[in-house]
Amino acid sequence: MIYLDHAATTPVPREVADTMYEVLMNQFGNPSSQYQLGLDMKKQVEDWRKTVAGALGCEPKQLFFTSCGTEGDNWAITAACWQNRHLGRHIVTTAVEHNAVLEACKWMEKQGYEVTYLAPDGNGDITAEQVLSAVRPDTALVSVMLVNNETGNIFPVADIAKGLTAKNPKTLLHTDAVQGFLKVPFTASGLGADFITISGHKIGGPKGVGALYIGPRVRNPRPLLPGGGQEAGLRSGTEATAQIAGFAKAVELRMDHLDEKLAHMAHIKAYAKEKLTSIPDLQVVGSGAAPHILSVSLAGWPSQNIVTDLSAQGICISAGSACHQGKPSHVVAALKLPKRTAGGVIRLSFGPETSEADIDACAEALRRHHDTRMPML
Ligand code: PLP
Repeated sequence: MIYLDHAATTPVPREVADTMYEVLMNQFGNPSSQYQLGLDMKKQVEDWRKTVAGALGCEPKQLFFTSCGTEGDNWAITAACWQNRHLGRHIVTTAVEHNAVLEACKWMEKQGYEVTYLAPDGNGDITAEQVLSAVRPDTALVSVMLVNNETGNIFPVADIAKGLTAKNPKTLLHTDAVQGFLKVPFTASGLGADFITISGHKIGGPKGVGALYIGPRVRNPRPLLPGGGQEAGLRSGTEATAQIAGFAKAVELRMDHLDEKLAHMAHIKAYAKEKLTSIPDLQVVGSGAAPHILSVSLAGWPSQNIVTDLSAQGICISAGSACHQGKPSHVVAALKLPKRTAGGVIRLSFGPETSEADIDACAEALRRHHDTRMPML
C-alpha cells in the first residue's frame, strides 16, 4: 500500500503501539487511586504532559488532555465565549476552518451569536488585516486555524495575535493547530493565541487523544466536563492513560531530528509538485506552504473517481476533506475555482516515511487515469 493521506491520519510507529500496550497490560492503574499503582500513573501522566507541553513550548499546567482535536476546538470556542459573555456576542472565523470549528460556531449562532466567516482569496490565503478589520468592540472570539487541512495554507496567527492587542485587547484568540503541530515550527508563546488545539493522530499517535493549550489571559476557564476533577478540574473523566502515553511517545519520536523530518517532507512535496504538474490538465491548488500537504486538481476528472481508481491500485489519497455527494468541500468551494478545476481537486499529504518511489507510483497512476478515462466535468 502507498499511503499519501497523512493529513487524514498517520501510521502508528511500533514504539508507540508498544508503549500503549505496556500501559494497557501492566500500568493499568487509575491515576486517582491512592495506592502505588495509581500514584505511579499520576506521575506518568504528568511526565507525558511535560513531553507534549515541551513540544508546544508551554508550561505543563497550561496543557489539558482531550479526546481529540474536535473536542479541543469545541472547548476553546465555548470557553472563550463564556469568558467574554459580557463583552459581546460576535465571533470572527474563516470559511475554511475544519468542521470542528465551523459546526461549533454554527451552534453558537443558534445561541444568539453573530459569526463572521472570512473568505480566502483564490490562493486560499487569509491576511491578518482581513481578520483584524472584522474585529469589533463586541468580538468575543477570533478563531483562525494555523494550517488548512485541505490546501496546506499557513495563516498568520502570530500577526493576528499582535494586531488584536491594539484592536480589541479583550477578544480571545483560538487557533486550531491540528495540522500545524510538529509540521510548522511554532511555540505557544511565539504564536500568542489564548487557545491552541492539537491532536495525536496527525503525528503518529493514536486516534482518540488530543490536547488544548489554555493561555494566561483565560481566567478561570469554563470546565468542559465538570466531574471528578481530573485535568485540574476542567476536563473530568478518568485519564485515557494508554492514549496519552501513545501521544507523548509519538511526540517524542517526531521531535527526534524534527528538522530533518520536516526538510524531508518539504523535499517530497517539491518532488511531487514537479512530477505531478508534468501531467496534462493537472494544476496546483492553493499556495500551501506547509511541508506535508499538496492540493492539486486534475481539471475535468471528478476527484471521487480518481480516489477510487487509485485506491484499486493500493494508493491512498483524498478528495479534499471529501467531495460530499458530488459537491466540492467547503474549502474548495471557498476558493471559487472554475467548476472543472473545483471538481478535480485531490489532496496528497506526506509523512516522514513517504518516499520518492511512493510519489512516482502515484504520479504514474494519475497520468494513467488522465490518459485512459474520459473527462466528465
Ligand atoms: N482540525 C483540523 C484542521 C483537522 O485536520 C482535524 C482532523 O482532520 C481536526 C481538527 C479534528 O481532529 P480530530 O480528528 O482529532 O478530532
